[in-house]
Amino acid sequence: MRDLGDIQTVGVVGAGTMGAGIAQVAATAGYDVVMRDVETEFVEDGFDRIEDSLDRLASRDELADDPDAVVDRITGTTELADLAAADFVVEAAVEDMAVKRDVFADLDDAVPDDVALATNTSTLSITTIAAATDREDRVVGLHFMNPVPVMKGVEVVVGEKTSEDAVGLAHDFAADLGKETWESDDKPGFVTNRILMPWINEGVRAYDEGVASKADVDKGMKLGTNVPMGPLELADHIGLDVCLDASETLHEELGDRYKPAYLLRRKVDAGDLGKKTGEGFYEYE
Ligand code: NAD
Repeated sequence: MRDLGDIQTVGVVGAGTMGAGIAQVAATAGYDVVMRDVETEFVEDGFDRIEDSLDRLASRDELADDPDAVVDRITGTTELADLAAADFVVEAAVEDMAVKRDVFADLDDAVPDDVALATNTSTLSITTIAAATDREDRVVGLHFMNPVPVMKGVEVVVGEKTSEDAVGLAHDFAADLGKETWESDDKPGFVTNRILMPWINEGVRAYDEGVASKADVDKGMKLGTNVPMGPLELADHIGLDVCLDASETLHEELGDRYKPAYLLRRKVDAGDLGKKTGEGFYEYE
């Protein structure tokens, strides 16, 4: 299997919130990146997000390189075959098991055998995703946090058949991007979302059941427990659809204590998905 020293080109599947962020941090660390999405328009949106983020970092003197040089290291594509150039692949397509399994089966055909494949899934089983390939030992969870360029932590998730080498590569790669890692077994929600999602749903219920205003639910948790964002503010930031998908997976796997809050589902049905649509629990410019 190719290890960190062999990696020159990183393949990224998906150019959405997370895929663009992962492409950006990999290119910032000096890797060549091939970023693939299904439509040219989505690839272009990914580049817009990357350019905005790099400009913000540069304006705060938090970027060592020239933003244009970082962008130049990223090639956008809609062609699966272009990922054949990758020495390591990180998948960040939508949180849907059927889609992930299709993507991994395709990657298994398109990418050389000795290349490890990582998934950025928030809640889905690494073992089930890996089983769509003939390289289950070289499939690992690499769960970046949002926003990727800002958040320091990356969760490494170990599937049933993930080899020690693949786990080691996941830690090494994240460290090379300047991140810190911790490890989770392949159990629903891993460490972070297993604890975060019930916290968010409880915040939504507390507001919906009239315990406090939404501002006071958030203020109480921020000032009362020393977290940087309250549950409603954080849900808007993550995307209410992403929170609902994650909560549904946890509910299905772990039972009733993970049931999504009624108001979360109603907001998603109404298309109010948080910051990305301009309205969630709060309104955004
Ligand atoms: P997103 O909806 O912003 O982006 C997903 C992208 O994947 C879209 O551009 C979509 O067109 C693309 N896509 C779909 N099918 C594809 C395919 N077959 N090949 C290539 N691209 C494809 O979603 P996101 O928020 O970036 O989430 C991506 C993954 O990261 C999910 O698994 C999610 O659970 C996980 N994640 C999200 C967050 C978060 O806060 N948003 C945090 C950690 C992990």
